[in-house]
Amino acid sequence: MDTSVKNLIVEKIKSSKIGQVDFDNLPFGDVFTDHMMVCDYKNGSWGTPKIIPYQPLTLDPSARVFHYGQAVFEGMKAYKDDKGQAWLFRPDENFRRINKSCVRLAIPEFPEEYFFDSLKTLLRLDVEWIKPGEGNTLYVRPFVIATQPGVIAAPSEEYKFMIICSPAKSYYGGEVRVKIAEKFSRAADGGFGFAKAAGNYAGQFYPTKLAKEEGFQQIVWTDSSTHEYIEEAGTMNVFVRIGDKLLTCPTSDRILDGVTRKSVIALARDQGIEVEIRPIKVAELLDATKNNTLKEMFGSGTAAVINPIQGFGYKGDKYELPKVENSYASRFKKQLTDIQYNRSEDKYGWRY
Ligand code: PMP
Repeated sequence: MDTSVKNLIVEKIKSSKIGQVDFDNLPFGDVFTDHMMVCDYKNGSWGTPKIIPYQPLTLDPSARVFHYGQAVFEGMKAYKDDKGQAWLFRPDENFRRINKSCVRLAIPEFPEEYFFDSLKTLLRLDVEWIKPGEGNTLYVRPFVIATQPGVIAAPSEEYKFMIICSPAKSYYGGEVRVKIAEKFSRAADGGFGFAKAAGNYAGQFYPTKLAKEEGFQQIVWTDSSTHEYIEEAGTMNVFVRIGDKLLTCPTSDRILDGVTRKSVIALARDQGIEVEIRPIKVAELLDATKNNTLKEMFGSGTAAVINPIQGFGYKGDKYELPKVENSYASRFKKQLTDIQYNRSEDKYGWRY
């Protein structure tokens, strides 16, 4: 072991497995790089972060994460430009958000310098896994789990903060049709929908499975009390274009404050597009469909950046969106990926 950065222990792999990876055929989230970061919380403080070869964990079967779901995570991406330099997109936002999630799940916050020092060291070690070219990225997954043994429904006093990385192509292929939730909810007022907590995702799987059986790829969740207002999708915030106006609902207790969402809002406003951040009624979508003013719907999220939504289902009826020229979805996707891959000026300072 050699300590290369202050507060960081680095143990390199003996030989890389990169040669065995078919980078042209990568199912999302399936393959992981040579190294990972792990940092243990014990006796009231975070220990020294370590970068070690990617490997399985050994945990006590009674570790709290298995029983009470005390777990949070993040998702961000690294990109490589044509000159071979690697970039992250707004990682400070992901860092802030994981600590917000930690607070809500009674997990101790993680120190900023540990996060960035270890993230940079990890990415430098595994930089060959970030391939240049459109659509190639390295998905970076920081997460925290409660490791203290004991089937006691109380916050753990021991945790692991880890970062693993997975080379990826674009997340969603093909057309996306969504079901607007009528019965199930993802989150409630006063709950933790705004947190990137594992349980929020587990709770979505069953309703999403039912929606898939009906031919939809995702669910657009509605507010839990009335189901009259659209909120967000499984792993995306949702935008609606009515006429030339762009609408998205406000973030709240129930909705994840997406990094891509806030980037789209900034880009749109800067280009003179009118953006309304306000509750959006399903009835408004149906009206706009009838009078042909519903031009576009799209999701925004790290995985797919922008994902156009071709149609939606609601109360047994199916609605198709028109094909539009010069769509906002393709415009924002291009502008965001140009910034991410260092193909355009970064006037917002989003590249890292
Ligand atoms: N909503 C949910 C529930 C998500 O999991 C994600 C993905 N992180 C998003 C929205 C989009 O957030 P971001 O743009 O930060 O990836």
